[in-house]
Amino acid sequence: MASLRRVPIAHFANGMEAALHIHEIVGTAGDGPTVGISAAIHGDEQTGPQIVLEFARQLDPAKLKGRLLLLPVANPLSFEARTRHNPVDDLNLNRMFPGARGGWFSEQLAAAISREFLEKIDVFFDIHAGGHQPTVDYIYIRNAENLSRAFGSKLLYRAKPGVSGTMYEGTAAAVTDKRAVPSVVIELGGGLVDQAPYVARGVAGLNNMLRELKTLDGAPAKPPEQIVMSGIQIIRPTQGGFIEIAHPPLGERVADDALLGRIVSPYTFETLEEIRNPVKGGWMVLSHLTRNLVQPGDYLFMVGHE
Ligand SMILES: [Zn+2]
Repeated sequence: MASLRRVPIAHFANGMEAALHIHEIVGTAGDGPTVGISAAIHGDEQTGPQIVLEFARQLDPAKLKGRLLLLPVANPLSFEARTRHNPVDDLNLNRMFPGARGGWFSEQLAAAISREFLEKIDVFFDIHAGGHQPTVDYIYIRNAENLSRAFGSKLLYRAKPGVSGTMYEGTAAAVTDKRAVPSVVIELGGGLVDQAPYVARGVAGLNNMLRELKTLDGAPAKPPEQIVMSGIQIIRPTQGGFIEIAHPPLGERVADDALLGRIVSPYTFETLEEIRNPVKGGWMVLSHLTRNLVQPGDYLFMVGHE
């Protein structure tokens, strides 16, 4: 049985109303936990909503125990604008949890998501992507390593609390962590490349995590050989221009000091900056798969290490 709940949030100055759309799917194969799946907390990460859409289309409630709550677009205004931050207040929704009813709009949105979604679930899968231009491919290990592994990605990241670049404060998963709800944060896809392979992997990964939880029929597939990273370094350019890539593909090892890419001026054709790998024994977890135009400070590469 599937139903859709529309939760009104607020009217905007243009008269339109923001609302959350939460799908409830009740399995008929028996009792079980309520699993919450969310996507597009960052609006420029448009792969997650596609994964949730395809997952819901393919799901057979007769094979499901317990209940699913799906929040395919957690941040509708950012999603529409295709921006990481909310256009109303320019805040990052995934730093605003648990939110505040009388706070900035993003805090009000976070409070509604906490109340209507995060506080009603027993297991949490939150889907992120690389955004407009970069493509990303790793899974966080938070408090449910078996579930993180069951998603099936090769690279996993055991985040540590409190340190910048690792486990951030104010995320949706920080709310579920506090309630000891098993939580998995997925980073998959994005960029100006065909998303179909990432969508297919996302759907397979969600199904396999549900099998690992024993709420979906069938034995879970064994994951591939996996690497657990203990740190990830974000590499941002200091110059703007075209990024021309010169490094191994996403998900592969990166040699120490390897040339990762060049920032090239579209105006003078000069190389403005050469980007080298600063990480010893690194793995490429975020990269650009096309010749994109970037600004100083953009997400250029993320290199993880064991
Ligand atoms: Zn994100």
